[in-house]
Amino acid sequence: MDYVFAPPPPPALAVAGRAERLPVHRIYCIGRNYIEHAKEMGMPIDRATPVFFCKPADAIVADGATIPCPPQTADLHHEVEMVVALHSGGQRIAANEALRHVFGYGVGLDLTRRDLQAAAKTKGLPWDTAKAFDRSAPVSAIAPAAKAGHPLRGKLSLEVNGRVRQQADIAEMIFSVPQIIHELSKLFTLAAGDLIFTGTPAGVAALKPGDAFHARLENIAELRGRIGLAEHPNGT
Ligand code: MN
Repeated sequence: MDYVFAPPPPPALAVAGRAERLPVHRIYCIGRNYIEHAKEMGMPIDRATPVFFCKPADAIVADGATIPCPPQTADLHHEVEMVVALHSGGQRIAANEALRHVFGYGVGLDLTRRDLQAAAKTKGLPWDTAKAFDRSAPVSAIAPAAKAGHPLRGKLSLEVNGRVRQQADIAEMIFSVPQIIHELSKLFTLAAGDLIFTGTPAGVAALKPGDAFHARLENIAELRGRIGLAEHPNGT
């Protein structure tokens, strides 16, 4: 196949205990999946209709990186989330079949330009500029379910500069992983390499240049990183 320019290699994540990497196809995210976070955002709790949005696959950032403070925001927020990685997919996947499609689990941050999101909500506009920006998806190495199993409970936490900012149990999710996969697969054709951010608990807050973060999904994954200076300091 000839291309008019060389296609970039696929974005990829490390896999715990293996040399092979996981190529990332798409990134899906669910919003308002923990009751206390929906409350802190002033949003209603809807147990019937999940809120989904996407990030580009090349928004992923590997463990240990420094992420330059993104432009056009004065309120960059952290949202610590369990991340599910698929090794197969399809359409209209039944909830009781969904876990067969899961390759493994990690932990990530759904970085959010909260000020742009608030403005978009007010105007009824899309969330892309608030959610789908460059390097908005730092994710840990993925722990294969074949080794670690499928976690139904476990502590999800985020420390910033050594202080706990967010802490909950993944058992508190409103939509479980099988339910999320079922609902997403009614809307999209899921595929190998898809990542799903499963929602954040309460405690979202701002990150500033120099902040060091440490996200953990108990017994599964850890993610460290740092927020750096803006690449173009006069661009905001
Ligand atoms: Mn989120």
